[in-house]
Amino acid sequence: MKKLSAFVLIAILSIFPLMISAQKGSFPEIKQLQSPQNPRLGFVLHGGAGVIRKGSLSPEKEKEYKAKLEEAVLAGYKALQEGKTGLDAVEIAIKILEDSPLFNAGKGAVFTADGKNELDAAIMDGKTLNAGAVAGLHHVKNPIVLARAVMEKSPHVMMIGAGAEQFAKEFNIELVEEKYFWTQERWDSLQKILKQEKEKAEAAKEGKKVSGIDLRMEPENKFGTVGAVALDKNGDLAAGTSTGGMTNKKYGRVGDVPIIGAGTYANNATCAVSATGWGEFFIRIGVAKEISSMMEYRAMPIQQAADAVIHTKLQNLGGDGGIVAIDKFGNIGISFNSEGMYRAYINSEGKPVVEIYKD
Ligand code: ASP
Repeated sequence: MKKLSAFVLIAILSIFPLMISAQKGSFPEIKQLQSPQNPRLGFVLHGGAGVIRKGSLSPEKEKEYKAKLEEAVLAGYKALQEGKTGLDAVEIAIKILEDSPLFNAGKGAVFTADGKNELDAAIMDGKTLNAGAVAGLHHVKNPIVLARAVMEKSPHVMMIGAGAEQFAKEFNIELVEEKYFWTQERWDSLQKILKQEKEKAEAAKEGKKVSGIDLRMEPENKFGTVGAVALDKNGDLAAGTSTGGMTNKKYGRVGDVPIIGAGTYANNATCAVSATGWGEFFIRIGVAKEISSMMEYRAMPIQQAADAVIHTKLQNLGGDGGIVAIDKFGNIGISFNSEGMYRAYINSEGKPVVEIYKD
């Protein structure tokens, strides 16, 4: 009997290391992108994805975009270095981008089909899985601030339209007149699309064959949503996104940005994700949560999970756009299937990197 139990013990002990190495072998090694000084801080943001080809922006415009992206990424990172939370860092950086007319969020929001600006935003806390989202706003200067208030000061996740703005008033969140969001560039984009729509409708009436209007085919529609993800000193992840939606969208249309799990998601167990692109496709796939799930259930590293969703699932469905993401170790994931994506991150030396084009 004694001999038998000794045999069983030896057998178990000799199989155990094999089991561990088999397990290791079946999971891809995670490459960590960490700064030696601040091993647990990380910050990445985007300023929208679309047809942004080299040479399509004037050197001055390119400089303007890069400067604003750098300002925002440095502000977010500085907040983390000062010990602020990932949620603070995300809110600070997104506010900077919302206040700039360069991006399709806050000040630079695009116009709806009936000539209005209708803003959406969301924020999520990876530690608690609490989230706040707002949609269909016309007067809130910084929708990301209101999204955070919904998360922290209400029992709800999503508030829309007039009710959300009433809530903003109650919490002294800055409201502006609708004309604050009016910019010549965005107005011209809407006029151009409306003209095309009219021409196509007339051609169709005359019996000419016309293809459907593709909102995303217009370069003006192709970029501008802003978003950020952060890993703070406590190891907590946060994600936030803010947008004016898509030019010429119909009244009341809500995109992926305020849909938790589509355009915005954070979970300390996996990653934080902020998306930009053709929202309808991101909603149908649940892009941000899908990336998190691939990491959770298939043990995929962040970049692989992001590429699988963007370059396979989104691509196969006919959608376009991209994401920025960060995992609980500080590994960064950036993936897009469009020509370009405005993006910035803090590299392993703690320096900002700003990129626009594919390569
Ligand atoms: N995803 C945004 C929306 O569909 C637009 C964008 O990111 O460009 O509302």
